[in-house]
Amino acid sequence: MSGLADYDCIVIGAGAAGVAAGRALARGGASFLILEARARAGGRAFTLDAGGFPVDLGAGWLHSADRNVLLPLAEQQGFAFLRDTPPWQKSADARGFETSDQRAYRAEQGRFFQRVQEAADGGQDFAASELLGPDARWTPLIDAMSTYVNGTETDRLSVLDYAAYEDTEVNFRVAEGYGALIQKLGADLPVRFGCIARLIDHGARPLRVETNQGTLTARAVIVTVPTSIIAHGGLRFRPALPARVEAAAMLPLGLADKLFLALDGAEDFPVDSRLYGATDRTATANYHIRPFGRPLIEAYFGGQFARELEAGGPEAFADFAIGQIVEALGSSYRARLTPVACSSWARDPFALGSYSHALPGHAGARAVLAKPEGDGLFFAGEAVSPGFFSTVHGAWETGERAAEDALAAR
Ligand SMILES: Cc1cc2nc3c(=O)[nH]c(=O)nc-3n(C[C@H](O)[C@H](O)[C@H](O)COP(=O)(O)OP(=O)(O)OC[C@H]3O[C@@H](n4cnc5c(N)ncnc54)[C@H](O)[C@@H]3O)c2cc1C
Repeated sequence: MSGLADYDCIVIGAGAAGVAAGRALARGGASFLILEARARAGGRAFTLDAGGFPVDLGAGWLHSADRNVLLPLAEQQGFAFLRDTPPWQKSADARGFETSDQRAYRAEQGRFFQRVQEAADGGQDFAASELLGPDARWTPLIDAMSTYVNGTETDRLSVLDYAAYEDTEVNFRVAEGYGALIQKLGADLPVRFGCIARLIDHGARPLRVETNQGTLTARAVIVTVPTSIIAHGGLRFRPALPARVEAAAMLPLGLADKLFLALDGAEDFPVDSRLYGATDRTATANYHIRPFGRPLIEAYFGGQFARELEAGGPEAFADFAIGQIVEALGSSYRARLTPVACSSWARDPFALGSYSHALPGHAGARAVLAKPEGDGLFFAGEAVSPGFFSTVHGAWETGERAAEDALAAR
């Protein structure tokens, strides 16, 4: 079936989109190989052991769980679900953030979302920061929230793109880890690890993929690497595809990072509680205490502030987080907290960030990037999902779709 080509299809990247594509290609009876630069599958979904618990350094939540394609797959694999209300949908610890202030903040945040929706309904695309409203008291915190949700402050966030994200507000977790789930779903697929694709020659048939392990050929290629890799020339095309590379550059990966701290005497806190580090600045962190009831704190950092902390390494994250927690809860906490794991997604050469957002005026870039190039080159990955971008399930759906397109083009 693959004729003179090595394979019917080569998939570049074994993250959620690549694993989904591989499973669909296998179902369709195609010969295929997945090329993965790292030594593991899962990409930005990555579970590792920290302090004796499986923790997700990347994706952790099955967002929009009532429409999430991974849910039935996780059930089939026997993963255990937690369906509890996530901490961001509950009141936070009142220490450092009085309950009445939390209400005022939520109200202002609600007005901001409403203005975003109204502007998007009007069809105009500009920076979401223009809608931050007159009550400056909550502006830094709304911007901090944007760095967690979008990976960026609102001045680099397209209103139209932000409003296009489909959130059903149903959020589940798997105790074994979201990264572990993607890894398990890809376990039987043919993946060549440590194989870095550098260039795709799509000018003739078969297509040729140049890698650090030599050149491979295929009738179709599915690209699932993050936009940042394409925008920065980590993966190139011959003939060049300037409009597509420009689209990738308009969909940069924002930054979100996590730090896990082991907490002595964790039972002093309710399960799944939340602490705000500060409420008057954007350069702050959010703390999820006792996730899954475990004696851990999951600290979440985003945007420019996370970028600055990455420059200082895991110690910078830990010093900052422990300092904030001590300030909010008291000096005894210094001895109760031990850093156990920390991410650094912007410094990861095969991610260069966390999840994509559209720059103001460029919400249309997702559709440009999603379009197949002729009948042989297909694009998948979270950034090309029209409504579930920046998520695992969005990435998964695009991988399945690209594989179906590749199979149909045979
Ligand atoms: C801190 C953090 C928290 C998150 N939280 C959530 C969450 O709670 N819920 C959610 O749904 N999503 C979350 N996300 C987003 C989610 O992880 C991603 O949207 C999703 O995993 C992207 O999948 P993908 O297949 O598109 O890309 P990736 O997972 O990035 O997969 C692409 C693969 O391509 C490989 N690659 C790159 N370059 C090359 C090359 N040149 N040659 C070969 N291989 C290459 C990479 O190593 C990678 O494995 C989070 C992400 C981060 C970082």
